[in-house]
Parts: sequence; structure tokens; C-alpha cells
Amino acid sequence: MFDLTTLLRPNIARLVPYSSARDEFKGKSDIFLDANENGFGSPLERDFNRYPDPQQTAVKARLSELKGVAANRIFVGNGSDEAIDLLYRCFCEPNKDQALVCPPTYGMYEVSANINAVELIKVPLQSDFQLDLPAIWNAITPTTKLIFVCSPNNPTGNDLRAADLVALLQGFKGLVVVDEAYIDFSDAPSWTKRLADFPNLVVLQTLSKAWGLAGLRLGLAFASPEIITIFNKVKPPYNVNAISQEWALQALAQADRVGEWIATIRRERQALISALQGLSFVEKIYPSDANFILIQLENARHVYEYLLEQGIVVRDRSNVPLCAGCLRVTIGTPEENARLLEALKIFKI
Ligand SMILES: *Cc1c(COP(=O)(O)O)cnc(C)c1O
Repeated sequence: MFDLTTLLRPNIARLVPYSSARDEFKGKSDIFLDANENGFGSPLERDFNRYPDPQQTAVKARLSELKGVAANRIFVGNGSDEAIDLLYRCFCEPNKDQALVCPPTYGMYEVSANINAVELIKVPLQSDFQLDLPAIWNAITPTTKLIFVCSPNNPTGNDLRAADLVALLQGFKGLVVVDEAYIDFSDAPSWTKRLADFPNLVVLQTLSKAWGLAGLRLGLAFASPEIITIFNKVKPPYNVNAISQEWALQALAQADRVGEWIATIRRERQALISALQGLSFVEKIYPSDANFILIQLENARHVYEYLLEQGIVVRDRSNVPLCAGCLRVTIGTPEENARLLEALKIFKI
């Protein structure tokens, strides 16, 4: 029932991709006069005069080991936002097709839909922040191409129920995109383990959160080799720069260190939740499978501004559907979390 060729925009199906100098000659040689680079080098201590690997071969090989996913199922982009944009550009005909999201969720799915002139269908999560499947089935049309879900979800922090995602993957004939930006902080297994079962599954991850590389801009997409081939056709040829590739490779060799941070952040998450529960103006703390917590307060705006005066910035989510009165707080280092708690303990309404 799933047919990638009918999902693809006709102009993308016909597209002849750009062929770069580094696509056409990949071997070793003494003199490279094929890419109009500057043979003298760079006016820096280090040389960046050569174009980077357009396919990020070394980074993908390491990711493949680390994630247990074949390299031809991996796309590396300039942040997850590049993969989100590519999904729209490859599969949604502007002013004709739709995508579906379940608010409250990550804002880029909507911004990117608007940029690409793709109508967005919104089916709110239920009050327990799980998917409303009957409403989703009701809202889908024959031209709905993509469903974006986020698990653990931002800003609510919870994992989505696996059985609901299986139902979506089995029942929807477009692509189901599962954004796992926060998967490292969850007990749930990654959906990358199920890629072979579902040809319409696209999993997004990022090196911006647990891996501590937000400044390098490295987003990942995992999907069938056919979908990854399409992304590679449409992406800018050199979408990930040489520095990002090089430092990502060094970082990916330090999985143990990142694992320790993750364990600490998960412990701190629990400690912070316990401590916040003792505060009179805290109404509700939602359970979290991520590196942040959503807190409902008596006067969220007031607390937000008070914290700003104390030099602590959190995210005010009180205008987001289902998040009235809520602040979203990232779990920081033990020192940062202690400062946050001290500030809140002396807060007077
Ligand atoms: C932070 C975040 C991302 C990461 O985006 P990058 O462009 O990779 O930095 C993706 N999805 C969600 C839900 C996020 O919260």
C-alpha cells in the first residue's frame, strides 16, 4: 500500500542532480585543478581551501556503528531543520498537498510548512499529551503527505505511545516523521530499530542536544535507502562544512563521556522535579522523558520575569495550546539547577 514514487513531487522525480567535482573524482591525486579552489591554501593557520566531502562518508560510517543503522539509511544535514525542509520540498506540492502536526509541538514543522506553501493540518494532542488517533484519521485527506510527531515531545517532555505510532505507520500511506531530538534522555527504544519494518518511517535525530554540538549544526535523518537517495539529490551539494564534519567525528568517538552527561542529566531531572514539588506556587510538573521539564505555575509570566532578573532564562510556553501557565525549563548542570532552585525558594508571589 505504501508507494514512494506516487508520494514524490513530479519535479523531484525528474530532477537531474548537480554533479560536483568531488562527486566526479573521488580518488587520490597530486594536483587538483578540477574545482576552481585556491591551490595556495587559506589565509589561516589551517587550510580550508578544499571543498568538504559532499556525502560525509566518515561521519556516516561512525554514526552507522554507533546507531546500528546502515550508512545508506543515514542523511546528515545542517541541523534537523534541513531535513524538515527537505521533507516538504521533496514530498509536498506547494499550494496543493498538506502535512499534519499535533500541537503543542516543535515550532519548525509549521514554519517550514509556511515557507514551502504547504497547508498544515493541526490535530491537538489529548490532555494526557498522547496522539488523538480518531481525530488524526478524520483529518487526513488524499493529499496529506507527511505526519510529524515528536517523541519525546517538545515542549511537553513525554514519549508518545509506541502502539499509536505503529497504528499511524500502518494506516497512513504518506510518511510518518518521528522527531527524536530528545531520545537520548528517554527509556524508550529509538524508532531507528524499526526502519526495516516500515518503509514510510523517517526518524530525525540531532547532535544539538545530548551530544552538546548545537553550534556545529548537525541534524540526522534515518529512513529507507530510497528516501535517503532522494534527500541527497535535493540537498545543497556541500551542505555540511569541513569543520562540522571533522569535529563531529571527534565528538562521536567520545560516546562514553556523553553517556555520563546523560546519566547525570536524568538524575538531576528527578532531583529537580522532587524539589520543585515542594514549592507552593508550583501547580503541576509534567513527567519528562527529555532534558527539560514543563511546569505549570500559579503565575508563570511573573515567575519568568523574576527568574530573568536573577539572571536565569527559561522558556515561557504559557501561550502554547494545552500549556497555559507553563514554563519549560532545561535541566542544566548540577550548579545551574541549584541556582534555579535557590532563586525559586525565595520567590514571593
Ligand atoms: C532542538 C530540537 C531539534 C534540533 O534542531 P537542530 O536543527 O538539529 O539543532 C529538532 N527537533 C526538536 C523537537 C527539537 O526540540
